[in-house]
Amino acid sequence: MIPVAPRLSIVLPAYREAEHLKLSLIEIRETAASLGVPFEILVVDDGSPDNTWPILQELAKDWSELRAFRLSRNFGKEGALAAGLDASRGDAVIVMDADLQHPPELIPKMYRLWADGGYDVVNAVKRERGDESWFRRRLTRLYHRIFAAFVGVKMAGSSDFKLLSRSAVDSYALFPERNIFFRGLIGWLGLKQTDLMFDVAPRAGGQTNWSFLMLAKLAINSVVSFSTIPLQMVTLLGFGFLIFSLVFAGQTLWVKLSGGAVEGFATVILLQLLIGAILMIGLGIVGQYVAKIFDEVKRRPRYLIQEEASPYSEPVPRHDKVDPVVPQLPKRKNAS
Ligand code: UDP
Ligand code: MG
Repeated sequence: MIPVAPRLSIVLPAYREAEHLKLSLIEIRETAASLGVPFEILVVDDGSPDNTWPILQELAKDWSELRAFRLSRNFGKEGALAAGLDASRGDAVIVMDADLQHPPELIPKMYRLWADGGYDVVNAVKRERGDESWFRRRLTRLYHRIFAAFVGVKMAGSSDFKLLSRSAVDSYALFPERNIFFRGLIGWLGLKQTDLMFDVAPRAGGQTNWSFLMLAKLAINSVVSFSTIPLQMVTLLGFGFLIFSLVFAGQTLWVKLSGGAVEGFATVILLQLLIGAILMIGLGIVGQYVAKIFDEVKRRPRYLIQEEASPYSEPVPRHDKVDPVVPQLPKRKNAS
């Protein structure tokens, strides 16, 4: 029987991980058990079309530490993460991928940093991008640079592999926004944070579920939800063009007054095209923010839980509350 208050929760979002899920979970469970403290493993099946859910149901029959949730459809990793965090009950919560790209050996180290070092957040930082292409590495680097410049939060090497203390999890649950960006928001939290380096392992099986389009969406979403600098850039560009046109007008007038002919049909067309393009990009940027506001005002839940397979524990509410409240969870005990 699972103890009422596990010391450690391990949250794993899983989408199309059937191929290797069982092996991953066995390894994670063994590593966690080596700590000798009560723990729970929460797996959130993010509406996988494959056998992920039947496998979880099967495992939950025998494993008292396992609590499995199935979302009503694919909500994306952020939604699945939120579901796992909301349901977690441990004094410390570790969030990691279900494909063993986040090495389980780090679990005891992270746990010790929290229990003995008193850290609220332990960030596992990628030393090397495992099996990614040159193009993707380049793109990631560019994105990190833009993010650091716009938002001021260092993203290079950051991953979703983290340990959070109960107070960090509760603070995260207080964020009212619907469009969440776990990695960035945890940095924003502050609290006592530390980094732990690790090498990204190749996937245990299957393939990455992120298409290029999804990554681009995530990148835009993260910048837009953290910074209004793109909007200010539109204004700055407008001023730049105003100054340029004033100088240009002065020059034209000067040429006219000094008896020269004003020519330049091509220049006019080019300028029109340029201004048209900039206006459209500007509108697009404003549109991104309007879309974001539209998404936020609807206040839809971040996820819906369709089913739970946790025969050994109390069921959790079926979906998250519209008005977030701090979950009533056991207070953190003194670190042992
Ligand atoms: N994931 C998810 N929902 C999705 C896509 C991915 O829950 O829509 C999970 C996936 O099962 C894995 C983690 O998020 O545990 C990271 O996904 P993936 O390995 O595909 O990404 P990568 O490691 O390439 O960044
Ligand atoms: Mg992965």
